Amino acid sequence: MSSAQLTQNPIETGLPTVMVLGTGGTIASSGSVATQLSDYTVGQGVDALIAAVPELQSLAKFKYEQVSNIVSYQIGDEILLRLAQRVNHWLAQPEITGVVITHGTDTLEETAYFLNLVVQSDKPVVLVGAMRPATAISADGPLNLFHAVVVAVNKQSVGRGVMVVMNDRILAARYVMKGHTTGVDAFIVPEQGVLGVVSDRDVQYFNQTSRVHTIHSALHLDPALKSLPPVDIVYEFQGAGVHMYEAALQAGAKGIVLAGMGNGNLSDAARAGAMQAAAKQVAFVRSSRVSQGSVRPSKKDAEFNCIAAQSLNPQKARILLRLALLKTQDREALQAIFNAY
Ligand code: ASP
Repeated sequence: MSSAQLTQNPIETGLPTVMVLGTGGTIASSGSVATQLSDYTVGQGVDALIAAVPELQSLAKFKYEQVSNIVSYQIGDEILLRLAQRVNHWLAQPEITGVVITHGTDTLEETAYFLNLVVQSDKPVVLVGAMRPATAISADGPLNLFHAVVVAVNKQSVGRGVMVVMNDRILAARYVMKGHTTGVDAFIVPEQGVLGVVSDRDVQYFNQTSRVHTIHSALHLDPALKSLPPVDIVYEFQGAGVHMYEAALQAGAKGIVLAGMGNGNLSDAARAGAMQAAAKQVAFVRSSRVSQGSVRPSKKDAEFNCIAAQSLNPQKARILLRLALLKTQDREALQAIFNAY
C-alpha cells in the first residue's frame, strides 16, 4: 500500500479549497483498449484524476492525498480507519471547505455509511466512483468527479451528512446502495429517494436525511483505535443449516448479522444460531436479503436476543453494529442505536 502523500496545486485563487482523498477503484483504473470494461488495472494516482479534468480548476483549489490505491472489495479495517482519520484531520483545517473521496463502487456504500457515523464535522464529504475505467469510451469518472466537487463546494451541502455523487444524483450515505453490477446508473435509493441532483454546476436538493449522522453521532472513533469488533454476515436460504453461525462464533465474532428471508424472519437454523450467539453474549441483528423495506423490531426479539436492523441492508447493519459494539453490548441499547442511526 502506498504511503500517504500530500501535494498542493500551485494555482492560488480566491476559490474554496477541496481535499481529494484517493483510495482507488474503477475511477482510477486503466484498460489496454477503450472497449475494455472489465479486468482493468487500478492504479492511477488521485493527482492524475484531477489533472484529467481541467475544468475542476474553475471550481476550487485542490489538495490531494493518496490514502490507498486498490479496488474497494479489498478494503479492510486498516484502510477504513485511516481514511476516517484523514477525513477528520482535513475537515478540522479551517481552509478546507469539503472532502471528496474517490473510491471503488463495490463497497462504496459501506465506506460512505461508516464515515457518516464517524466524521466529526458538518462540512461536505462526498464519495465518488465510476463504473467504467478512465480509459473507456464514455468513461463516467471525469464527470462524476466534476459533479462531486460541485456538490462539495456548494453551501447547501453543509450539514447533510456524508453523500455519494454518481450519475448526476446526490445520494445519502445512510440509504444509498449499489443496485447494478455494471451500469453507470448503478447507485440507487429505491425507498427513500435521492437527496438531490447535480447538473452542470448547479445543485438542487429535494430531501434531508432524517437519521443521526456526523456531528450528531455518538459513535465517533478514538483515533488510536486499530481494529473494530469482528462481525459476520450469515445469508439465509431455504434449508440453510446452523453451521455458518457456529463457524462465525468459533472464529470469534462479536456480532452476527442475518441476511434473513423476507421481513428478517428466523428459520429454525437461524433461531438456533441466535440462541448460540446469545449464550456467548454475541449480538445478533436481523436484517433482510430483500433490497427494500425495513425489518422492524418484533415481540420475539427479546426471546431470541435479536436486534432489528430497520432499513439497513446486511452490509450496512454490520458497519453500524461494529461501531455500536464499541459502546455497548446490551441488546436494548443496541436496538436504540439501530432505531436512531
Ligand atoms: N468495480 C469496482 C469499481 O467500480 C471495483 C471496486 O470496487 O474497486 O470501482
